[in-house]
Amino acid sequence: MLETALNAMAQQYLDLTLCKSRCDESDIQWYTEGPFWRRTNMRFSREYKILPDYEIGDMKHGKTLEDVLDECTHLKANLKLYKETARPDEMQRIDYIIDHVVNLHTRTRLLLGEKIPYNTMTDLMYGLVAPAYELKQFDDILGEMEQALPGSGSVQDKIARFRKKITVPPEKLLQVMTDGTKAFHDMSMENMTLTGNSMPRVRVRELADPKMEFLSILFGYDYNHLEYERNFNLLFNWTVDHIVECIGHEMEPGHLTYYEKRIQTYIDTGWPEMAVVSLYSSSSAFTEGSGRYVIDMCFDHSMDKKVDFEREYIFKKADLDMGLVELMPLWHQFSEMTGYGKLEASRRLWDGEWSLEEALAFLKQYGFVDKDTQTADIEKMACDMGHFTSHEHARDVVKEYFRSVTSSVEEEWRLYEKLCCAHMSMRGMQDKTYRIDF
Ligand SMILES: [Zn+2]
Repeated sequence: MLETALNAMAQQYLDLTLCKSRCDESDIQWYTEGPFWRRTNMRFSREYKILPDYEIGDMKHGKTLEDVLDECTHLKANLKLYKETARPDEMQRIDYIIDHVVNLHTRTRLLLGEKIPYNTMTDLMYGLVAPAYELKQFDDILGEMEQALPGSGSVQDKIARFRKKITVPPEKLLQVMTDGTKAFHDMSMENMTLTGNSMPRVRVRELADPKMEFLSILFGYDYNHLEYERNFNLLFNWTVDHIVECIGHEMEPGHLTYYEKRIQTYIDTGWPEMAVVSLYSSSSAFTEGSGRYVIDMCFDHSMDKKVDFEREYIFKKADLDMGLVELMPLWHQFSEMTGYGKLEASRRLWDGEWSLEEALAFLKQYGFVDKDTQTADIEKMACDMGHFTSHEHARDVVKEYFRSVTSSVEEEWRLYEKLCCAHMSMRGMQDKTYRIDF
């Protein structure tokens, strides 16, 4: 009886999320409509289709953003009332649903044009507040890059040249992506209990938008299988580090593994809240952050092992300059700093402290973007201002949490697998109060 009431509230959350997605195109990252789903015709295009992969159709309709806002308020109050007499073993589930209703409520406020300070926004939408990053750490890494990178000219020129030199040429991309995908699939299988049927098919093609990294097509799923196709863009500049990130984070053991685990959890429990992953939510921040951290778990947190992988799977197969391999550890540090730099730029832009021009000048000064980057590109980045908090900072939160509750990489893998199926809490992971058996 009790669970029925909670399921009804979770179903309301799900319905509201789907309705809101009509006004929020990129929101639905994953959705399980039922135990099975498959395409039944060939009416899809490899030219335009991006996430979401679903024809959600009329489930999107019936409510305005004002309705969503209003219902969220009541739903939250009902959940809090329910919590007062709930059983202890229901608490994590209730907290999870409350968090997600608050996430949805906040995103809806933004869609209606409300202005909320950056840190408040990320707190309400992901359960996360990123620390302030000092300019000094950016100065330090820039100084190191200046010293270490070969060639002459300004440090920004050296960075741009290095970036170009570690870019995989289009004619080698299919081989590199295919072999890398298989290698990450094998590492995931080695460390987790997975069906093994969800390795995506890899394609490469020239996509209409050169800045789009890939285009995904979901063909179907069931409890034991995710049928996915990923089309990587031949026009995109694929650097070595970005390829590793894109395979491990976007596919296995990152997002696709998370989706596989969520389908199974939904089928096993029937909990409606497990059917959806909304981009603007704490479960999304979890898969974004853990999807980054889990790459380092694949290499036992050893930079040497990661760089060995890059040498064998990317530098060699793509005929890149092997002399640059030794600079990859520094480059990875720089990439991490780039993320923090973009986070800081997003925050200051959002809060009105910087103009687009000032943000662009800052990013160029530190080599975080190339010199031909335009304010229009920064405007694009500004479409999803929470991105760097739900990625960079979420990764750091996952990292610190995993380190505080586990004592080996094996334990980390068990914890990761458990969290993929759990009512996790980013807020609880950030303040380290969240507990789960693994
Ligand atoms: Zn992601």
